[in-house]
Amino acid sequence: MRDGVTNRGGVAGESGGGATAARTPLKTFQAYLPPAHRTYSCIHCRAHLASHDELISKSFQGSQGRAYLFNSVVNVGCGPAEERVLLTGLHAVADIYCECCKTMLGWKYEHAFESSQKYKEGKFIIELAHMVKENGWD
Ligand SMILES: [Zn+2]
Repeated sequence: MRDGVTNRGGVAGESGGGATAARTPLKTFQAYLPPAHRTYSCIHCRAHLASHDELISKSFQGSQGRAYLFNSVVNVGCGPAEERVLLTGLHAVADIYCECCKTMLGWKYEHAFESSQKYKEGKFIIELAHMVKENGWD
């Protein structure tokens, strides 16, 4: 289950086409999550990033330490997908960044090539170093 970027840019020698149609939401306004919910926000600009309800797993590893897997995120932009070899095999991933302050937060799994890793497709990794908890945490 642990994952991480071990080989940034270490792309396998296949023709790298196809996976570039990243959905980039054209949001001009910052999205706000419901105030009653436990929320993760950008530690740099306090934009909301994800609801605790969307958290899938805390057992991921980013380049700067712990990272969480989320089902959905807000206020996050997405770079082009590229193939990377992670600890759990080859994936097509895209860097994600805070749309408000442009800080790189983690990555999105666009495609998993191992069937055991398919559950991560379309999900988002945000490194704990870029998040702060807000609302309703005790
Ligand atoms: Zn931010």
